[in-house]
Amino acid sequence: MAFTSSPLITCKKELSLFAFPSSSFTIGKRQKCKKSSSNKIVSVVSSQKNKRNPSATGSSKSAMTATEKILARAAEKCEVRPGENAWTNVDVLMINDITCPGISGIFKKQFGITAKVWDREKIVVIPDHYIFTNDDRAHRNVDIARDFCVEQDIKYFYDIKDRSNFRANPDYKGVCHVALAQEGHCRPGEVLLGTDSHTTSAGAFGQFATGVGNTDAAFILGTGRILLKVPPTLRFVLDGELPSYLLAKDLILNIIGEISMSGATYKTMEFVGTTIEGLSMEERMTLCNMVVEAGGKNGIVAADRTTYKYLEDKTSAPYEPVFSDENARFLAQYRFDVSKMEPLVAKPQSPDNRALARECNNVKIDRVYIGSCTGGKTEDFMAAAKVFLAGGKTVKVPTFLVPATQKVWMDLYTLEVPESGGKTCSKIFEEAGCDPPASPSCAACMGGPKDTYGRLNEPKVCVSTTNRNFPGRMGHIEGQIYLASPYTAAASALTGFVTDPREFF
Ligand code: SF4
Repeated sequence: MAFTSSPLITCKKELSLFAFPSSSFTIGKRQKCKKSSSNKIVSVVSSQKNKRNPSATGSSKSAMTATEKILARAAEKCEVRPGENAWTNVDVLMINDITCPGISGIFKKQFGITAKVWDREKIVVIPDHYIFTNDDRAHRNVDIARDFCVEQDIKYFYDIKDRSNFRANPDYKGVCHVALAQEGHCRPGEVLLGTDSHTTSAGAFGQFATGVGNTDAAFILGTGRILLKVPPTLRFVLDGELPSYLLAKDLILNIIGEISMSGATYKTMEFVGTTIEGLSMEERMTLCNMVVEAGGKNGIVAADRTTYKYLEDKTSAPYEPVFSDENARFLAQYRFDVSKMEPLVAKPQSPDNRALARECNNVKIDRVYIGSCTGGKTEDFMAAAKVFLAGGKTVKVPTFLVPATQKVWMDLYTLEVPESGGKTCSKIFEEAGCDPPASPSCAACMGGPKDTYGRLNEPKVCVSTTNRNFPGRMGHIEGQIYLASPYTAAASALTGFVTDPREFF
């Protein structure tokens, strides 16, 4: 089905992409989307099956999207509209090691040297970026974060003191976005802000989640509020049975390739459809994690039984999910039939540089990296293990494995991979000749200090399950990063070339 009717994609650099299976792309029935009319509501389509009240926020009779409802409630208003600025109460503020020194400095300067944070139980400080390094400045970041958390009696500080053995630090978690979910800080209907752009991951829980800068974070520390412009919502309807060789990473690479890196700038990306309903929480997190690569303000998946089940043993805090109304207004709607899709990669140097994995099978690679908040979760490693198991041979290139968190690391050594005869991921990785799973952290996803594990210190070609492939992102400015799903990454490790995982299934 042609999709040339969408002016949104006329800015695409490679028209050949129109030949992709995602040409199942359609625009909502009444949509006449013009890039220049970004403020115009042009599509009204809803796939909510259950009738709901117009608003979960009170007396409003106006239909709203889930994001609008969350922001309205957090702003203590009956309703909000896209483009409106609203003072928003924040439920959770996440701060990491590389931003904490700057934020605490601004906070003290603006609110006073003896000022106290607005709520010690709503702040989560997570060291994760530059941890396992000999760089003293990186250590200093964590030391400053620790001092600040002690001074402010912050309830949730996931500290690390002994870097020689992460397991000696029971409080230490690892990559913030995965840790937030595992520790029960992600809850439907809430507002979660973090000083990291991939805070959008938490939208998988049906909440509003996005990244903020240091100044905003310092203001939130002092007041618990932020002035937010309400984003309009783009709706992505993904239907069909997900083929066994695809993962959520393929879905989001496809969407970003479709709408470009600026296709969702300051917009909500709402994901619905039967495919989304069938995704696990970790896969929904992968989807929402990368909305920021299309410029998205936030991503959101409606909470459902899968969400509630995941949260059962993670939080006892009450939460109230909200859902888009049937007649809520969406800026545009995109429809995908995932059953026709094929495994994808994003070629260097942009996440929207989409290509079929099989079309890149002549690209010789130097290494594979499986890790990060996008592709370093338990299910990501399970997926990679499945390919190694099916391949039955050893890797052709160095293969680095970086579990996102301490819990993921433990899972690799304790959980049995289905249909493996009782083997764990770690056993399968060992038999395949991969590097042993490293200490959980962001590691080389963002390059980091020179001695960071897995860092591209030379102009190597790497297939990676991370989320960005800009020049220098993983270290060397001339490094070539192919973003891919864990299936594609593992298949590529087995051949030494970018490889479609169907070769091993
Ligand atoms: S794993 Fe990578 S993308 Fe995720 S928070 Fe860390 S540096 Fe950022």
